[in-house]
Amino acid sequence: MTPIVELIDVWKSYDGVQALRGMNLEVRRGEIFGLLGPNGAGKTTTLKIIVGLLRMDRGIVKINGIDIREEPYEYKRLIGYVPESVSLPDYLTVEELLVYSGKIRGVPMMHIKERMDYFVKIFELEDKRRTLIASLSSGMRQKVAIVSALINDPDLLILDEPFIGIDPMGQHILKEMFGERVKDGKTVFISTHMLDTAERLCDRVAVIHRGQNVASGDLKDLQRLSRTGEDATLEEVFLRLIEEAKEMSMEKPIKEERKGFSIFFRRDAP
Ligand code: ATP
Repeated sequence: MTPIVELIDVWKSYDGVQALRGMNLEVRRGEIFGLLGPNGAGKTTTLKIIVGLLRMDRGIVKINGIDIREEPYEYKRLIGYVPESVSLPDYLTVEELLVYSGKIRGVPMMHIKERMDYFVKIFELEDKRRTLIASLSSGMRQKVAIVSALINDPDLLILDEPFIGIDPMGQHILKEMFGERVKDGKTVFISTHMLDTAERLCDRVAVIHRGQNVASGDLKDLQRLSRTGEDATLEEVFLRLIEEAKEMSMEKPIKEERKGFSIFFRRDAP
């Protein structure tokens, strides 16, 4: 089956900072997929390129088999995106924002209303419907951003660090909601540092380091690739893979001059 997300040899630099160095990634339809990596590994950059907020320097990104450079607009209808730092218009009420968010994505008013009623209730925002965004707590704003991303019932829901700042009940609701979506054949793609949660929640993960995919698969695949044994936790596997990736980039650097910058490749991602 065509993957819902496919990245092939994607490169991105910010004014000389090489954030992605040939990123390869495959997310399958109907799974919860986790993007894991240390600070600065390139998770947010990867997600922003996928949703069209950043332009890659080179490489291919396909959403549902379609190259996003060839069809830069249409694919966005399939996506709901919640960034790491949520920024919402303070001058709208929760309800106004959600209606606006649905309308700009061409969702019929009837569906906007249905989804708004459903998600506002499950995220316990019922009594905030007519409250200005400016008066919400940061966790509430994040929940509103999540509901806004869900208003077009996206095939692909992408969330950058979704659990940070949300209370335990909200986190529980979020995880349940992810499970319901994948049961319906939809896809949830998150980045997270919460390895315990990722181990319980994600069907497959990718561990990335310095802008490359070091290893991806389910826990069994990663235990095998990292040679940590079948009882190893995702945290143990992650630490081993990152340690090895660091050693590889120190010990066996292959130097390549690219646009005037020296970069170091580690081994190819399995
Ligand atoms: P974290 O876990 O800390 O959120 P991350 O894996 O999401 O990190 P990115 O935010 O994608 O990592 O950053 C990857 C690299 O790109 C880092 O070296 C970072 O300093 C750099 N970077 C990211 N955004 C910018 C920017 N706007 N300008 C310059 N460099 C940037």
